[in-house]
Amino acid sequence: LQAKMSKPVRARRLEGIDKNIWVEFVKLAATYSKVNLGQGFPDFPAPDFLTEAFTRALGGGNHMLHQYTRAFGHPPLVKVLAQFFGKLLGRDLDPMTNVMVTVGAYQALFCCFQALVDEGDEVIIIEPFFDCYEPMVKMAGGTPVFVPLRPNPPKDGKLMSSADWQLDPAELASKFSERTKAIVLNSPNNPLGKVFSHGELGLIAELCVKHDVLCISDEVYEWLVYDGKRHIRIASLQGMWDRTVIVGSAGKTFSATGWKVGWVVGPDRLLQHLRTVHQNSVYHCATIAQEAVAQGFQRELMLYGKPESYFVQLPKELQQKRDWLVQSLDGVGMKPIIPEGTYFLVADISPFKSDVPDVPNSDEPYDYRFTKWMVKNKGLAAIPLSAFFSEAHKNNYTNFIRFCFAKEEATLKAANDILQKWKQEKTS
Ligand code: PMP
Repeated sequence: LQAKMSKPVRARRLEGIDKNIWVEFVKLAATYSKVNLGQGFPDFPAPDFLTEAFTRALGGGNHMLHQYTRAFGHPPLVKVLAQFFGKLLGRDLDPMTNVMVTVGAYQALFCCFQALVDEGDEVIIIEPFFDCYEPMVKMAGGTPVFVPLRPNPPKDGKLMSSADWQLDPAELASKFSERTKAIVLNSPNNPLGKVFSHGELGLIAELCVKHDVLCISDEVYEWLVYDGKRHIRIASLQGMWDRTVIVGSAGKTFSATGWKVGWVVGPDRLLQHLRTVHQNSVYHCATIAQEAVAQGFQRELMLYGKPESYFVQLPKELQQKRDWLVQSLDGVGMKPIIPEGTYFLVADISPFKSDVPDVPNSDEPYDYRFTKWMVKNKGLAAIPLSAFFSEAHKNNYTNFIRFCFAKEEATLKAANDILQKWKQEKTS
């Protein structure tokens, strides 16, 4: 017998947020792709020192590592994170109050929005954005206010860079008001790979201070910066430490996204409220994964800035991978926007309109149709860029798709083969 309920079962806070791009595109990639450059995770192994630390923690004789640890973070991990980020920020951090460990950066973000955003608060989100910010703000009762990075194509015919996507300062300033509670900053930015400059961060910081606004700074790609560029932490700018929560991810930092270890770093006046959310939702993250990540950070602290450091080696390897993918795409006329950071790359698919059959009466954007067609017909998976824009603005950005290049050389070669074959078919 089917249960009948006359009461609505869905809580009101889920209204309008039930659609999710990843469910559909992860499934399409699993079904059709030969080469998956869609979702953001490496297909190469995590570093040996990290997996060995995990194995040691698992079988090393300390059976207490199989039990609960401290709810707000395993003591060895919060201690080393406080040391590490204290060094980067030039500030003494208290491991117990200035750091909290979360289930990936995802739960760190959830804690931020639940703890800091009230009904009626506005939260500024810079487009394109990691798509979960919008539903998370809404679930907290807040209203997202969007401001786009606008592309300024270079005039000399060179390939565009993620640095050519910029905020309009007057437009950004116009979004701040009495109602603004927070701005979400994601540098290096997923999906564009933009690394915000000191000047751009200064502008955001000035507006935050002027309007007494918090900054949720998603820095999960902090080590993935190329061409000698530097990642600048907005919390180190004047007046920002007290109003910023830094969000980080061991998944992205150590190429182990499945471990789901993340953290927040910030002032106790903010983190105390995040602890309340954490304590009343997940309470606790896997002890062994935290122990292994702690050992990973101890190693990196010792090797800081040295050539053997993973945080030095990984971006070098990824820059090479980025350059391979740039070449492959450029070679077939799928104009890449060269990312300054992250392991994502956005490419312009406007020259391919004639390849993809038109679907009459469909309101599906071109980038969605293109991505679905490409995975089904060419076996290559990517993600449509308009998924990273708000409903109001997405129609202006339907000529781009996002690739992830954190992949083995063989995977990127296989992608290149698909693209080359496609090009030959087009010209023959
Ligand atoms: N922030 C950004 C910008 C991301 O791209 C991701 C993962 N794709 C996350 C947060 C979530 O990170 P984690 O896997 O540690 O939960």
